[in-house]
Amino acid sequence: RKINIAIDGYSACGKSTLAKDLAKVLSYTFIDSGAMYRAVTLFAMRNGWIKENGVIDQKALIASLNTVQIGFKPSQEKGKSDTHLNGENVEEEIRKPHIAQYVSQISAIPEVRKRLVALQQDFGKEKGVVMDGRDIGTVVFPNAELKLFVTADVEERARRRFEELKSKGVESTLEEVKKNLAHRDHLDTTRATDPLKKADDARLVDNTCMTKDEQLTLVLGWVRS
Ligand code: C5P
Repeated sequence: RKINIAIDGYSACGKSTLAKDLAKVLSYTFIDSGAMYRAVTLFAMRNGWIKENGVIDQKALIASLNTVQIGFKPSQEKGKSDTHLNGENVEEEIRKPHIAQYVSQISAIPEVRKRLVALQQDFGKEKGVVMDGRDIGTVVFPNAELKLFVTADVEERARRRFEELKSKGVESTLEEVKKNLAHRDHLDTTRATDPLKKADDARLVDNTCMTKDEQLTLVLGWVRS
Protein backbone atom coordinates (compact mmCIF):
# COMPACT_ATOMS: atom_id res chain seq x y z
CA ARG A 1 0.00 0.00 0.00
CA LYS A 2 1.42 3.36 -1.02
CA ILE A 3 1.57 6.24 1.41
CA ASN A 4 2.47 9.93 1.28
CA ILE A 5 5.68 11.05 2.96
CA ALA A 6 6.04 14.64 4.18
CA ILE A 7 9.55 15.95 4.82
CA ASP A 8 10.22 19.33 6.42
CA GLY A 9 13.28 21.01 7.80
CA TYR A 10 15.75 23.87 7.64
CA SER A 11 17.55 25.02 4.50
CA ALA A 12 20.13 22.62 3.07
CA CYS A 13 19.61 19.95 5.73
CA GLY A 14 19.54 17.11 3.22
CA LYS A 15 15.74 16.94 2.88
CA SER A 16 15.71 16.71 -0.86
CA THR A 17 18.53 14.15 -0.95
CA LEU A 18 16.53 11.98 1.42
CA ALA A 19 13.30 12.58 -0.52
CA LYS A 20 14.94 11.63 -3.83
CA ASP A 21 16.51 8.51 -2.35
CA LEU A 22 13.19 7.40 -0.86
CA ALA A 23 11.34 8.04 -4.12
CA LYS A 24 13.89 5.97 -6.01
CA VAL A 25 13.84 2.98 -3.67
CA LEU A 26 10.06 2.98 -3.26
CA SER A 27 9.21 3.98 -6.87
CA TYR A 28 7.35 7.03 -5.56
CA THR A 29 7.02 10.50 -7.10
CA PHE A 30 9.35 13.12 -5.64
CA ILE A 31 8.05 16.70 -5.51
CA ASP A 32 10.41 19.53 -4.53
CA SER A 33 8.06 22.20 -3.16
CA GLY A 34 10.95 24.63 -2.64
CA ALA A 35 11.57 24.60 -6.40
CA MET A 36 8.05 25.96 -6.85
CA TYR A 37 8.76 28.94 -4.55
CA ARG A 38 12.05 29.45 -6.34
CA ALA A 39 10.27 29.46 -9.73
CA VAL A 40 7.80 32.11 -8.52
CA THR A 41 10.80 34.15 -7.29
CA LEU A 42 12.40 33.94 -10.73
CA PHE A 43 9.09 34.96 -12.30
CA ALA A 44 8.90 38.04 -10.05
CA MET A 45 12.52 38.92 -10.73
CA ARG A 46 12.18 38.71 -14.49
CA ASN A 47 9.17 41.01 -14.34
CA GLY A 48 11.16 43.56 -12.37
CA TRP A 49 9.04 43.20 -9.25
CA ILE A 50 12.02 42.65 -6.97
CA LYS A 51 13.78 45.99 -6.64
CA GLU A 52 17.49 46.28 -6.05
CA ASN A 53 16.86 47.44 -2.48
CA GLY A 54 14.93 44.22 -1.85
CA VAL A 55 11.48 45.81 -1.95
CA ILE A 56 8.93 43.59 -3.65
CA ASP A 57 5.97 44.76 -5.71
CA GLN A 58 3.62 42.29 -4.08
CA LYS A 59 0.52 43.73 -5.72
CA ALA A 60 1.81 43.13 -9.24
CA LEU A 61 2.97 39.63 -8.37
CA ILE A 62 -0.31 38.66 -6.71
CA ALA A 63 -2.29 40.00 -9.68
CA SER A 64 -0.29 37.78 -12.08
CA LEU A 65 -0.14 34.62 -10.00
CA ASN A 66 -2.83 32.92 -12.05
CA THR A 67 -0.61 33.15 -15.15
CA VAL A 68 2.24 31.25 -13.49
CA GLN A 69 2.46 27.63 -14.58
CA ILE A 70 4.86 25.39 -12.72
CA GLY A 71 5.56 21.78 -13.55
CA PHE A 72 8.17 19.04 -13.33
CA LYS A 73 9.46 17.07 -16.30
CA PRO A 74 11.92 14.19 -16.47
CA SER A 75 15.46 15.46 -16.87
CA GLN A 76 17.95 14.33 -19.52
CA GLU A 77 19.85 12.85 -16.62
CA LYS A 78 18.06 9.63 -15.79
CA GLY A 79 15.94 9.58 -12.65
CA LYS A 80 16.03 13.35 -12.18
CA SER A 81 13.39 15.95 -12.90
CA ASP A 82 13.56 19.56 -14.00
CA THR A 83 11.41 22.46 -12.86
CA HIS A 84 9.56 24.25 -15.64
CA LEU A 85 8.18 27.79 -15.44
CA ASN A 86 5.57 28.58 -18.11
CA GLY A 87 7.01 25.85 -20.30
CA GLU A 88 10.66 26.83 -19.89
CA ASN A 89 13.22 24.65 -18.14
CA VAL A 90 14.48 26.84 -15.28
CA GLU A 91 16.05 24.08 -13.15
CA GLU A 92 19.56 25.48 -13.27
CA GLU A 93 18.67 29.11 -12.80
CA ILE A 94 16.44 28.68 -9.72
CA ARG A 95 19.29 27.08 -7.73
CA LYS A 96 21.50 30.16 -8.00
CA PRO A 97 22.28 32.53 -5.12
CA HIS A 98 20.33 35.49 -6.58
CA ILE A 99 17.15 33.41 -6.28
CA ALA A 100 18.07 32.00 -2.83
CA GLN A 101 18.55 35.60 -1.68
CA TYR A 102 14.89 36.57 -2.19
CA VAL A 103 12.92 33.33 -2.10
CA SER A 104 12.04 33.53 1.60
CA GLN A 105 10.53 36.99 1.13
CA ILE A 106 8.47 35.75 -1.79
CA SER A 107 7.39 32.62 0.10
CA ALA A 108 6.16 34.74 3.02
CA ILE A 109 3.44 36.29 0.81
CA PRO A 110 0.17 34.56 1.85
CA GLU A 111 -1.32 34.59 -1.67
CA VAL A 112 1.78 32.91 -3.09
CA ARG A 113 1.52 30.17 -0.46
CA LYS A 114 -2.18 29.69 -1.06
CA ARG A 115 -1.63 29.09 -4.77
CA LEU A 116 1.37 26.78 -4.38
CA VAL A 117 -0.17 24.77 -1.54
CA ALA A 118 -3.21 24.09 -3.77
CA LEU A 119 -0.92 22.86 -6.58
CA GLN A 120 1.05 20.71 -4.13
CA GLN A 121 -2.10 19.14 -2.71
CA ASP A 122 -3.14 18.25 -6.26
CA PHE A 123 0.12 16.36 -6.73
CA GLY A 124 -0.61 14.39 -3.57
CA LYS A 125 -4.07 13.20 -4.52
CA GLU A 126 -2.65 9.90 -5.63
CA LYS A 127 -0.65 8.27 -2.88
CA GLY A 128 2.99 7.47 -3.42
CA VAL A 129 4.34 11.01 -3.19
CA VAL A 130 7.41 12.16 -1.27
CA MET A 131 7.35 15.94 -0.88
CA ASP A 132 9.92 18.07 0.86
CA GLY A 133 9.58 21.66 2.05
CA ARG A 134 8.78 23.76 5.12
CA ASP A 135 5.05 23.21 5.70
CA ILE A 136 4.37 19.81 4.16
CA GLY A 137 3.57 17.92 7.37
CA THR A 138 1.76 20.88 8.93
CA VAL A 139 -0.22 22.38 6.03
CA VAL A 140 0.10 20.62 2.67
CA PHE A 141 -0.37 17.01 3.83
CA PRO A 142 -1.51 17.18 7.46
CA ASN A 143 -2.70 13.57 7.09
CA ALA A 144 0.49 12.16 5.59
CA GLU A 145 1.12 8.62 6.83
CA LEU A 146 4.79 9.42 7.55
CA LYS A 147 6.14 12.82 8.55
CA LEU A 148 9.80 13.67 9.05
CA PHE A 149 11.46 16.76 10.42
CA VAL A 150 15.07 16.85 9.29
CA THR A 151 17.77 18.92 10.89
CA ALA A 152 21.55 19.26 10.99
CA ASP A 153 24.06 21.63 12.51
CA VAL A 154 24.20 24.94 10.57
CA GLU A 155 27.98 24.67 10.01
CA GLU A 156 27.52 21.25 8.47
CA ARG A 157 24.59 22.39 6.34
CA ALA A 158 26.58 25.37 5.03
CA ARG A 159 29.53 23.15 4.22
CA ARG A 160 27.37 20.70 2.28
CA ARG A 161 25.54 23.40 0.30
CA PHE A 162 28.82 25.19 -0.46
CA GLU A 163 30.34 21.96 -1.83
CA GLU A 164 27.22 21.32 -3.88
CA LEU A 165 27.29 24.79 -5.45
CA LYS A 166 31.02 24.48 -6.10
CA SER A 167 30.55 21.17 -7.88
CA LYS A 168 28.01 22.88 -10.14
CA GLY A 169 30.44 25.69 -10.92
CA VAL A 170 28.36 28.31 -9.06
CA GLU A 171 30.56 30.95 -7.47
CA SER A 172 30.08 31.71 -3.78
CA THR A 173 31.95 31.56 -0.49
CA LEU A 174 31.29 29.40 2.57
CA GLU A 175 30.53 32.57 4.58
CA GLU A 176 27.98 33.78 2.01
CA VAL A 177 26.28 30.39 1.92
CA LYS A 178 26.10 30.24 5.72
CA LYS A 179 24.68 33.75 5.89
CA ASN A 180 22.00 32.91 3.35
CA LEU A 181 20.98 29.72 5.19
CA ALA A 182 20.72 31.53 8.51
CA HIS A 183 18.78 34.37 6.88
CA ARG A 184 16.28 32.01 5.24
CA ASP A 185 15.87 29.91 8.41
CA HIS A 186 15.08 33.07 10.31
CA LEU A 187 12.48 34.29 7.79
CA ASP A 188 11.00 30.80 7.32
CA THR A 189 10.52 30.17 11.06
CA THR A 190 9.19 33.65 11.91
CA ARG A 191 6.83 34.45 9.02
CA ALA A 192 3.17 34.99 9.91
CA THR A 193 1.72 32.47 7.44
CA ASP A 194 2.55 28.80 7.94
CA PRO A 195 6.01 29.19 9.45
CA LEU A 196 8.43 26.30 9.40
CA LYS A 197 7.88 24.11 12.44
CA LYS A 198 7.92 20.46 13.32
CA ALA A 199 4.50 18.82 13.13
CA ASP A 200 3.64 17.26 16.50
CA ASP A 201 3.52 13.81 14.94
CA ALA A 202 6.69 14.18 12.82
CA ARG A 203 9.74 12.04 13.53
CA LEU A 204 12.92 13.97 14.12
CA VAL A 205 15.98 13.12 12.02
CA ASP A 206 19.23 14.88 12.97
CA ASN A 207 21.65 13.90 10.25
CA THR A 208 24.67 16.00 11.32
CA CYS A 209 26.65 12.83 11.89
CA MET A 210 24.88 10.50 9.48
CA THR A 211 25.82 9.51 5.98
CA LYS A 212 23.13 9.70 3.35
CA ASP A 213 22.85 5.91 3.36
CA GLU A 214 22.47 5.74 7.14
CA GLN A 215 19.70 8.31 6.93
CA LEU A 216 17.94 6.37 4.18
CA THR A 217 18.16 3.07 6.06
CA LEU A 218 16.74 4.66 9.21
CA VAL A 219 13.75 6.12 7.37
CA LEU A 220 13.09 3.03 5.23
CA GLY A 221 12.73 1.15 8.51
CA TRP A 222 9.88 3.48 9.47
CA VAL A 223 8.25 3.25 6.03
CA ARG A 224 8.21 -0.53 6.21
CA SER A 225 7.11 -0.87 9.83
O1 C5P B 1 13.83 23.84 -0.18
P1 C5P B 1 14.46 25.10 -0.74
O2 C5P B 1 15.67 25.55 0.01
O3 C5P B 1 14.68 25.03 -2.20
O4 C5P B 1 13.35 26.20 -0.51
C1 C5P B 1 13.56 27.55 -0.84
C2 C5P B 1 12.69 28.47 0.00
O5 C5P B 1 11.31 28.29 -0.36
C3 C5P B 1 12.73 28.25 1.50
O6 C5P B 1 13.81 28.94 2.11
C4 C5P B 1 11.38 28.80 1.94
O7 C5P B 1 11.43 30.21 2.06
C5 C5P B 1 10.48 28.48 0.77
N1 C5P B 1 9.66 27.29 0.97
C6 C5P B 1 8.49 27.40 1.71
N2 C5P B 1 7.65 26.34 1.84
C7 C5P B 1 7.95 25.17 1.28
C8 C5P B 1 9.15 25.00 0.56
C9 C5P B 1 10.00 26.09 0.43
O8 C5P B 1 8.21 28.48 2.22
N3 C5P B 1 7.09 24.15 1.41
